[in-house]
Amino acid sequence: MKKTCTEVWDNCLKVIKDNIHYQSFKTWFLPIKPLKLENSVLTIQVPSQFFYEWLEEHYIVLLKKTIKKELGTEGRLEYSVLMENNYDNPEPLSIKIPASNKKALANPSVSMPIDLNRGTSKEIPNPFVIPGLKKIKVNSQLVDNYSFENFIEGDCNRLARSAGFAVAENPGKTAFNPLYLYSNVGLGKTHLAHAIGIQVKNNFPDRTVLYVSTEQFVGQYIESVRNNNQNDFVHFYQMIDVLIMDDIQFLSGKEKTQDVFFHVFNQLHQTSKQLVLTSDKPPVEMKGIEPRLLSRFKWGLAADLQPPDLETRIAILQKKLYHDGIEMPEEVIEYLAYSINTNIRELEGALISIMAQSSLNKKPITLELAKQMIDKFVKSTSREISIDFIQKIVCDYFNLPVDSINSKTRKREIVQARQLSMYFAKKHTKASLATIGLHCGNKDHATVLHACKTVNNLIDTDKQFRVYVEELDKKIKMQ
Ligand code: ADP
Ligand code: MG
Repeated sequence: MKKTCTEVWDNCLKVIKDNIHYQSFKTWFLPIKPLKLENSVLTIQVPSQFFYEWLEEHYIVLLKKTIKKELGTEGRLEYSVLMENNYDNPEPLSIKIPASNKKALANPSVSMPIDLNRGTSKEIPNPFVIPGLKKIKVNSQLVDNYSFENFIEGDCNRLARSAGFAVAENPGKTAFNPLYLYSNVGLGKTHLAHAIGIQVKNNFPDRTVLYVSTEQFVGQYIESVRNNNQNDFVHFYQMIDVLIMDDIQFLSGKEKTQDVFFHVFNQLHQTSKQLVLTSDKPPVEMKGIEPRLLSRFKWGLAADLQPPDLETRIAILQKKLYHDGIEMPEEVIEYLAYSINTNIRELEGALISIMAQSSLNKKPITLELAKQMIDKFVKSTSREISIDFIQKIVCDYFNLPVDSINSKTRKREIVQARQLSMYFAKKHTKASLATIGLHCGNKDHATVLHACKTVNNLIDTDKQFRVYVEELDKKIKMQ
């Protein structure tokens, strides 16, 4: 019997999953939909041009192999890319691209329903720019420290960072235009936006890059209205090669400024200039923004930054300390990273407070000092004990590496550490049994339940064990 496209794709996914990191699998392959299978050609739908390019760049060999394995040597793959960046048609369009045929993209003679070539086709002359005036020196307003070099990469920001890097290598010429970065405060949007600008300046010294906060943009516009030189204002912005506008949520409700930004946006986009926008929300959740502007925000790539995991938080602190030439005991760094887990700016704030405290009082930086400081610092934001914090305490206590809990081993001491972690997680967190199991060695809820029972039994019957539990409990609560 002939296989359906879903069956074929599912089989491919199984192979792919075994061959790449799970995080990558989730990011790049789970969003793909198989569309059809005709004459050994499997068509898959990818959510954006960015996906298509990423797959082609990173996974084409694996994809080809898998397809051939499934469909034989005749087997081929075609992409269908959901497109949103047609000027007058915000409806998603579908476009077919044969796999591994990137040249077709750069070749205008290949007929395509829409122009994917905006970047590579002839430049439309900018009517506003008077030749000779083009090379006005613009102060880019970039902060040197906010470079890619100083930006720690983690699962939390990988997509945004890669997209930002791609944009900096090829401003205006990738599908990520605008590049729209969003996240809660303090998670690195401004830093990343600057990094892109800095990298563009390094790569292309004669491009005009401008970083501007939305508030500044609004202020300048109001000023230009007052001075009756709005045209100069607009012309200035239309001359920029890479425009980075930070916190565009502040455009909300400001209709006149939105109107003027709309024109700037169009002009830049049409002439393949790069736009990088940041916001505290994804485009769909933005309020008080004109629909025509909102739909443009969705043309390129919207990438979010998530709160960093523990490892990334530690790496960020270490980078900062190294940069400032300061030494700090490892346990203090870890303590800080454990305690503050939702906002990098706060994490840095805590670090600075500790250093200030220590130099003010001429006291060394110790865990004790860190604890006092954190108590003052994060009192308002309720701290919750996390499963990974518990695992760390338990493993430290028994001198085991933290990741041993997630290993498959059945060594007695590790099984015990795992069971204790489950027991304390049940006791001190609101996590469900299933979640606890997942985070402690990928076990199911029944295993967690069994672990809790075992620990309770041992507390009743084994004196030494009871001491362990009491000491651990203290350590965990002392957080
Ligand atoms: P946002 O604009 O999202 O509010 P910022 O870009 O201002 O956040 O980041 C807050 C602070 O955290 C900055 O000092 C920045 O340098 C730092 N930071 C954020 N993300 C990272 C990262 N991945 N690596 C290193 N430092 C970071
Ligand atoms: Mg910011």
